Amino acid sequence: MSTAAAPRMDDRAEADQDAPDYALEAQGLSKVYRSSGGQEAKRALDSVDLKIPRGSLFGLLGPNGAGKSTFINILAGLVIKTSGVAKVWDYDIDRQTRLARASIGVVPQELNIDPFFTPEELLEVQAGLYGVPKAERRTDEILELVGLADKRKAYARTLSGGMRRRLLIGKAMVHNPPVLVLDEPTAGVDIELRRQLWENVVELNRRGTTVLLTTHYLEEAEELCDRIAIINHGQVVAHDEKRSLLGRLDAKTLRVSVKERVETTPEQLTRFDPQIVPLDAAGEGAPKTELVIAYRPSETDAGTIVGALYEAGLSLVDLSTEETDLEDIFLQLTRDADASAG
Ligand code: ADP
Ligand code: MG
Repeated sequence: MSTAAAPRMDDRAEADQDAPDYALEAQGLSKVYRSSGGQEAKRALDSVDLKIPRGSLFGLLGPNGAGKSTFINILAGLVIKTSGVAKVWDYDIDRQTRLARASIGVVPQELNIDPFFTPEELLEVQAGLYGVPKAERRTDEILELVGLADKRKAYARTLSGGMRRRLLIGKAMVHNPPVLVLDEPTAGVDIELRRQLWENVVELNRRGTTVLLTTHYLEEAEELCDRIAIINHGQVVAHDEKRSLLGRLDAKTLRVSVKERVETTPEQLTRFDPQIVPLDAAGEGAPKTELVIAYRPSETDAGTIVGALYEAGLSLVDLSTEETDLEDIFLQLTRDADASAG
């Protein structure tokens, strides 16, 4: 991928000296889908406040039905909000609709591509729809960027799922929007292609495009994003830098297997309140007990616990610690929200 071939994208940072601090903003954003047929009305977004800093690779994470697609579709002008304020690149979607629209590119969740177009034709048609003059079209550059330069003349129906997804990313970029939104970009995409897509997205972000992606894969948000908001039942339950979010749960687990058969907690270990798990010991020297100790890294460390195990006269066979990951945080936050929701 040649950097010289992509002057406009590489120039993004300089060209945007007057660019806003936030690429996307929502204040008190709510959406109620009206009841229809036998369906009850559904509050899909409940007064969401969220600011997505320019330049970030932002993950909107949440279980199915949380309101992720509703949120981004409102910003993209595809769903009409019920109340609240939404801005794209500082343009109010109600008052500066056209500018707001021109500032965002959306890659939808479904792979809807006309099978009889080639990637080249598809990008040209899309550029036409956005009124991009011929001289300003970047079809070659975009095909290069999404790794489809060698497929430019292939019919879309012959493209693999991963290639179609990349083509949709390219399609969302024809009008060179500073903000790119991807709705579940890797849902149903196999592991290898997922990696490749991640690389494309990271590269776009590195070149200055603000990226918002929704996902229900924790791994995806953990791997890609610098900031993460967690949404559940239409409400934002957490929003932070990934690092702080991961550091938020002050909890770790130490698992030790020991040779001895332990039945009651040795005095030296009572303060750690270990869970005692008898093991089916097979053979000489095999561990007979596993001790599972949950602790707070801010109060103690694994070394102190191991010291106490030795003081208790136990012979350690094996030991491991489990870190908190996004999944723990996600489960904790969505559980808390479910509990408080009744
Ligand atoms: P997510 O993308 O996080 O899976 P959605 O934004 O698609 O969530 O949906 C949020 C909630 O709104 C869900 O309960 C969903 O069933 C409901 N919903 C989404 N679209 C519509 C619609 N067009 N009409 C009625 N309800 C909808
Ligand atoms: Mg969705």
